[in-house]
Amino acid sequence: MERRKFLQLSSFGASMLALKPPGIVKAPTNPIIVSTWADGKRVNEEAWKVLSKGGRALDAVENGARWMEDQINCCVGLGANPDRDGIVTLDSCIMDEHANCGAVAALERIKHPVSVARKVMELTPHVLLVGQGAQQFAIENGFKLEPQELSPSAKDAYEKWLEKSEYKPEINIENKKSINPAPPMLLEDGSFNHDTMGIVALDASGSMSGAVTTSGMGFKMRGRVGDSPIIGAGLFVDNEIGAATSSGMGEEVIRICGTHLVVEFMRQGYNPETACRLAVERIVNRDPEKAKGLQVGFLALDKRGRYGAYAVQKGFEFAVKSGNEEKILGCKYVYDYGVT
Ligand code: ASP
Repeated sequence: MERRKFLQLSSFGASMLALKPPGIVKAPTNPIIVSTWADGKRVNEEAWKVLSKGGRALDAVENGARWMEDQINCCVGLGANPDRDGIVTLDSCIMDEHANCGAVAALERIKHPVSVARKVMELTPHVLLVGQGAQQFAIENGFKLEPQELSPSAKDAYEKWLEKSEYKPEINIENKKSINPAPPMLLEDGSFNHDTMGIVALDASGSMSGAVTTSGMGFKMRGRVGDSPIIGAGLFVDNEIGAATSSGMGEEVIRICGTHLVVEFMRQGYNPETACRLAVERIVNRDPEKAKGLQVGFLALDKRGRYGAYAVQKGFEFAVKSGNEEKILGCKYVYDYGVT
């Protein structure tokens, strides 16, 4: 009886060991950071100030995201495009190497949603606070309530959009000419552009973290929340395997739990680019015709510091920075602006 129990237990133990993915041991690594879009280059520089001194990936990604949120006339932060009622609402999340995570959605008049998300993670038993409750929590924790006003470029874009008030959630088809010289962009056919800053990093102690910050889809329906603040959709970090983030049509990313899927593909042994491609193919194969008109890009970094991206459409870019490289890269895609 005792022997049978022992055998059962030891074979259970052996099967658990067999299931354990490689790379669990936390070993010193060369720090590296990857961020979505070309703006990621500056974001990486800010994050690098932390990583290069041996700092924690969590502090690095927050630093990078805060820099982005400080920019006026961009698709992130209070200067970004408003919703269709003319109000800027921000979404953000953050996740660390222990699977701690925090997020805010539909947050108004607070400059640094990523730092509020971090406070949600550190000070509450919750993961996601939204709307008024998130704002109240931010104020209680010392964040300043900013005036409710649009940046000059967002005001222009919104006025232009109001001419037709067409609810057309189309995304980042980068070859369409932008009406505004700088983002947030309103495209000449009345559709609009929206970008999200997604950042994932590996620090010198072998810990990974990620952050996402966005104003979401420009002229979105009031109350609409995309993938960006949803853990497993816009961001996922598994310190045993790797981390992933996304940009693009959030609804499509949520439907497939996009970044969680990318990390799971890496767990199965796929490299970051292939993992991103397989997730993109989930979106495309479900409805190829619909996918021709939308953009989603995934970006992943694995525990070994390998990175890769893949997108539905041409035009998705990302920036990488480590001790020996600093560049902006394009990635492979399924459609060349809607054409196979
Ligand atoms: N993913 C964001 C959202 O759907 C938008 C974007 O990446 O441009 O809200």
